[in-house]
Amino acid sequence: MDTQASPRPSVFPSPAVPSPTGRAVVIGAGLAGLASAIRLVARGYEVTVLERGPEPGGRAWQREVNGFVHDGGPTVLTAPFLVDELFGLLGRNREDFLSFLPVEPWYRFLFAEGGTFDYGPAETLAPQWERFEGRPGESYPRFREHARALFEAGFTQLADRPFDRAATMAAQVPQLLRLGAYRSAYRATGDYFRDPRLRLAFSLPALLLGGDPHRVSSIYLMIHELEQRYGVWYPQGGMGALVRSLADLLKGTGRAECRYGETVLGLETGAHDRVRAVRTADGGRRSADLVVYNGDPVHLYRDLLPHASRSLAEKLRARSGQHSFGLYIVYFGLRREFPEVAQHTILVDRDERSSLRTICRGAGISERLHLYLHRASATDPEMAPAGGDSFYCLCPVPNLGRTPLEWEVEGPRLQERILDRLEETVLPGLRGSLDHCFAVDPRDFEDRLLAFRGAGFGLAPLLHQSAYFRFHNRADRPANLFLAGAGVHPGAGVPGVLSSARALERLLPQDSPS
Ligand SMILES: Cc1cc2nc3c(=O)[nH]c(=O)nc-3n(C[C@H](O)[C@H](O)[C@H](O)COP(=O)(O)OP(=O)(O)OC[C@H]3O[C@@H](n4cnc5c(N)ncnc54)[C@H](O)[C@@H]3O)c2cc1C
Repeated sequence: MDTQASPRPSVFPSPAVPSPTGRAVVIGAGLAGLASAIRLVARGYEVTVLERGPEPGGRAWQREVNGFVHDGGPTVLTAPFLVDELFGLLGRNREDFLSFLPVEPWYRFLFAEGGTFDYGPAETLAPQWERFEGRPGESYPRFREHARALFEAGFTQLADRPFDRAATMAAQVPQLLRLGAYRSAYRATGDYFRDPRLRLAFSLPALLLGGDPHRVSSIYLMIHELEQRYGVWYPQGGMGALVRSLADLLKGTGRAECRYGETVLGLETGAHDRVRAVRTADGGRRSADLVVYNGDPVHLYRDLLPHASRSLAEKLRARSGQHSFGLYIVYFGLRREFPEVAQHTILVDRDERSSLRTICRGAGISERLHLYLHRASATDPEMAPAGGDSFYCLCPVPNLGRTPLEWEVEGPRLQERILDRLEETVLPGLRGSLDHCFAVDPRDFEDRLLAFRGAGFGLAPLLHQSAYFRFHNRADRPANLFLAGAGVHPGAGVPGVLSSARALERLLPQDSPS
């Protein structure tokens, strides 16, 4: 098991890569943008990454306050082999850049109606069944079998397969029907577990991909198999360290340049329906043989691509897609430790079904709070100064769509409610040891990332917005425009967006595009 930190040089000698075959511009340095840039360099392109923010990462940003390090977004790393593969493509070993620490338990569920469930490797689940009901012990192997079948279909076969043709989709329909992909994740768990708390524990991880477990397709139960096979990890130094290592990997090739503070305002198309150049906010123009767009596809198809270059299907998707809920996140450092708090704690209040429906419909902040608490220093003590703990607490809220809330009023109120709830449950005396506290709401996602309606996860992971029905990894037109990230197939989440870069690579022209 890899638990040792490796010294990380800031610049690495260039590995052997093929000579350049063209100039590529990648718009956005989120995880998918960085992964795409790495794949393009490995294929011989000279790459420029244009990122509007001051640093790479996008949703995976990181900030340090008084020695407390806060990951801004993702905290759960699954499918670590997808990261290793990026280093391998450039002839490097991930271990020389970054260590992955095992997380234990993977998640701790605290149910308001009573009960704690530590979700983790199969052998750690067994001793807990009797606290809920006797039956799951017998039916768990059948659940695992189902998750395995979903994983083979949904991940192994389809995650990195581009769905830009209706025929590819049509070929998958019989298999998806056979696996019951039309049922919700929560509903499908009813075949195996009777206790609603267990059903939630096995379907709720979809919430970290922007899906309401009562609406998201049961195909997402494949996450269970992904976790069981490859584990749940945390990069030493946090997700920010993962982002920095990918940016360093790129820089070290000498064939890629990452430019920060550069907002792309438009794409310029030319002869043969190709993108010729991208225009930036400072009046700059950068010509390209190939463009990869990593931001929210709604922004691309509404604002960046000339009207005449958008296909009808893309216009419709950009106009009528359903977007995930928004997020309100409170980040705080405490000058004392809470060693009994797990790295990932999910506090489920009563009546979560109707609360999530209220939130997803944009009908307001729910009366009941369902919270995800992240204690980074549980796994990596370096994330907080000695004797302290570094936290964030996430609460799903409506996005900015239907009835935008007055966040300058609602935000501080919600923050107090969240801190109250944490004080009453897992962090007694929290306010007495508060070092600092700040929060973000859906406006931050809209302003900083240009995320449509400030949605936390982009286009919602609904069956009718998946695969062929999601934005494609290659634009319908122009021919040299590609997309990677949460808004395209296969969808949000670190494994999803890294797989989107894999899918994109399969579509790249074999020869020099110029
Ligand atoms: C709070 C939170 C917690 C999460 N937890 C997990 C988790 O634990 N595990 C997991 O697997 N997933 C998690 N996710 C999901 C995962 O983080 C995201 O799906 C993933 O990081 C998205 O990456 P991306 O590359 O698609 O896009 P982004 O990270 O959104 O990056 C897109 C980039 O494009 C830039 N950009 C956009 N438009 C322009 C423009 N016009 N010009 C220049 N730059 C532009 C943006 O500034 C941004 O940097 C979480 C997400 C959030 C928000």
